[in-house]
Amino acid sequence: MKFGGTSVGKPERMHHIVSLVSKETEPVIVVLSALSGTTNALVEIGDCIARGDRQGAKQSIDKLEAHYQAFISELVKKEASVAKAKSIVAEHFEFLNIILRISFSEALSKDILAQGELLSTKLFCTYLEEQGTPHQLLPALEFMSIDQYDEPQIGSIKVKLSQLLKEHKGKKIFVTQGYICRNARGEVDNLKRGGSDYSASLIAAAINASVCEIWTDIDGMHNNDPRIVKKTVPVEQMSFDEAAELAYFGAKILHPASIWPAQQYNIPVKLLNTMQPEAKGTTITGEAGSVGVKAVAAKDNIIAIRIKSSRMLLAYGFLRKIFEVFEKYRTPIDMITTSEVAVSLTIDSDSNLDKILKELEPFGTVELDKDQTIISVVGNQIAQTEDMVKKLFGSIMNIPVRMVSYGGSPHNISLLVPASYKIQILQQLNRGMFGLE
Ligand code: ASP
Ligand code: MG
Repeated sequence: MKFGGTSVGKPERMHHIVSLVSKETEPVIVVLSALSGTTNALVEIGDCIARGDRQGAKQSIDKLEAHYQAFISELVKKEASVAKAKSIVAEHFEFLNIILRISFSEALSKDILAQGELLSTKLFCTYLEEQGTPHQLLPALEFMSIDQYDEPQIGSIKVKLSQLLKEHKGKKIFVTQGYICRNARGEVDNLKRGGSDYSASLIAAAINASVCEIWTDIDGMHNNDPRIVKKTVPVEQMSFDEAAELAYFGAKILHPASIWPAQQYNIPVKLLNTMQPEAKGTTITGEAGSVGVKAVAAKDNIIAIRIKSSRMLLAYGFLRKIFEVFEKYRTPIDMITTSEVAVSLTIDSDSNLDKILKELEPFGTVELDKDQTIISVVGNQIAQTEDMVKKLFGSIMNIPVRMVSYGGSPHNISLLVPASYKIQILQQLNRGMFGLE
């Protein structure tokens, strides 16, 4: 059971989680994020230190500490628990204050980021203790690890975690940190922003869990972006492939990388709502369920690149040469379409854009469109269902679509549109594809 930042962000929410967890009949591993806002604050503190603004860092540290003082005053009441919680907060903020005084390094910035999850889990355990609920803290830094390419080492995670669980046989509630891990050098590292979902899925895979529950503040994956269209409905059932497309192409509810461990080990994933635990949420398994469109998602800040060259005509090896440029700069390509004399593709990062463009120049005329949005329509066998395709294009006839990716997978059709059309297209698709306003 993984709980995100907003699910642990207020003392009463943490209390509520304990009541949810205590209801479980099977043993459970509880994976926690940092309290909402904490990781952002820690990023800011790290940034301040990195640019030598110690005063700014100090101010942010003090502000964050005050937040935790207020938090624990509501979290626990008994004298012994209050003392324990205070010493936990003191310990971690002392650490941050020490970091202020030593020279900055990349490794140290990861140590700073780890404080959020370390704090949330320890404080959660303090509350469990106050409640007299037996539990065991499993330090993620003792079993969660990534290799030199930042890839999780599932084999070693499995061995280490099984060993830890064996040592505490008979316990029912285990608590651990999401997000944090050790890297190939043995330093403290993390699974990137939003990585607690990934932790949960890796843990579920490592112990062959009966289910991986991701608890957030919305009742599952919705058919459209609730921040943009008025009426959205949760999708009850979807396949791992569908969920992966949606998570990657913009559905904020789940970290995209968290799909593969569950999929590979065939662990059902449930997306559930902490505020409304009785709601069905979304179940993700190997089964797609009914045929049809499930959801649309949007991914912003996309850059489209078109390479036009008559040399492409009847040539072979042209695409490889182009792809090699992107590989060299470790820049993933999202969408691609080709004609006989041109290829269009999209990337979502401009960090090496200038270098990439320079290296593409010898291949032909290069055109660039920034500020694009990928609209991804996801469902079971939608690309083979004639009716669906008609409906899709029928509902967006007035929108200037820059690229279409159709047939890459049977459950996805992606459209590239200028970002300024995003709201309009999501609204029109909601009407046209789902009959919702
Ligand atoms: N606390 C981390 C973050 O905010 C990890 C997570 O919440 O999943 O990115
Ligand atoms: Mg989060």
